[in-house]
Amino acid sequence: PIYLDYAATTPVDKNVLQDMIQYLTIDGIFGNTASRSHQFGWLAEESVDIAREKIAALINVDPREIIFTSGATESNNLAIKGCCDFYKKKGQHIITSSVEHKSVLDTCRYLEQKKYQVTYINPKSNGIISLNEIKKNINKNTILISIMYANNETGTIQDIYQISHICKKNNILFHVDATQAIGKLPLDLKTINIDLMSFSAHKIYGPKGIGVLYIKRKPRIRLSAQIHGGGHERGMRSGTLPVHQIVGMGTACYIAQKNILHESSYLFQLRNYLWKGICKIQEIYLNTNLKNSTPHILNVSFNYIEGESLIMALKNLAVASGSACTSSSLEPSYVLRALGLKDELAHSSIRFSIGRFTTKKEINYTIHAIHKAIIKLRQLSPLWEM
Ligand code: PMP
Repeated sequence: PIYLDYAATTPVDKNVLQDMIQYLTIDGIFGNTASRSHQFGWLAEESVDIAREKIAALINVDPREIIFTSGATESNNLAIKGCCDFYKKKGQHIITSSVEHKSVLDTCRYLEQKKYQVTYINPKSNGIISLNEIKKNINKNTILISIMYANNETGTIQDIYQISHICKKNNILFHVDATQAIGKLPLDLKTINIDLMSFSAHKIYGPKGIGVLYIKRKPRIRLSAQIHGGGHERGMRSGTLPVHQIVGMGTACYIAQKNILHESSYLFQLRNYLWKGICKIQEIYLNTNLKNSTPHILNVSFNYIEGESLIMALKNLAVASGSACTSSSLEPSYVLRALGLKDELAHSSIRFSIGRFTTKKEINYTIHAIHKAIIKLRQLSPLWEM
């Protein structure tokens, strides 16, 4: 099958793997960074420092502001729980949106059980969260606003620049889940006031199981640790550092930074080419805001077609129906529902996500396969009379 699920995960870039492989075996650098008394530890630590610099460079921050975690899920948990825990005397109210990733939403639900108040803002039908809605919901107890940069199902981008101004003006911390944006949308944290930012390696051709939380140092943001132990990562996240994973993420970020403009424009053109190839299909609905989205995601719905049969008919295409992260449930996508889509359209949605290794030939095949599948399924559909 053709892989069109890059928003779920990406294959590791061969250059990333080559670097990682040197950090595992007896003839490589396999030491524990906590071993301060010998060279094996020092070499490992040096490698982590270099990787941390590459990751920091991608978003233009100080390497000391980067904390390693197991991925964006953990980063989101640490950012939100850690912040609420540490600043609870200041207030107990959070603002987020109803279209965040589950790792943000479920963390917020958990905090609600702990008596925090959470406001979930619904986006407008174009997918964008209104700045006025955010402002309206701020109160004297609001300590944190958590809004994603780009949505994982639709690709839609939020106006984090304006939201950061609102946060600064009201003295509220701002957390951004940038998992889908990193490596696609250039982001210079010297030009925007973000206090906490999550992202992970496996969406940018790095290994799974490693991510970071950016934590601002000036002014210094404090968090309560969620994983306690040996005091690694400035006490914010204990656990022996997975040096090979970190090195892999470093190389992945380095490559992403080098290629970001070229790669984004390639993805943008390819994504729009795919849309052009299928947009003439009758009763097709675009769920991605093409003018305001990451270049790698295209989300569409097909009316009068059942989602599951569509996926079956497209079995040569590895695509996602709804969010891959929640596809174990049969509920229609909560993200599409929040945009006002009726259940049938949410059910018959497909997320195509392309990446570094997607070719035009693959997109041509995809366009052809979709046309074929839709014609066949609509012939079978009792609801379709055209
Ligand atoms: N946030 C967003 C927007 C995501 O797309 C994902 C991955 N589906 C995550 C968080 C979770 O990332 P990870 O897989 O690294 O835990």
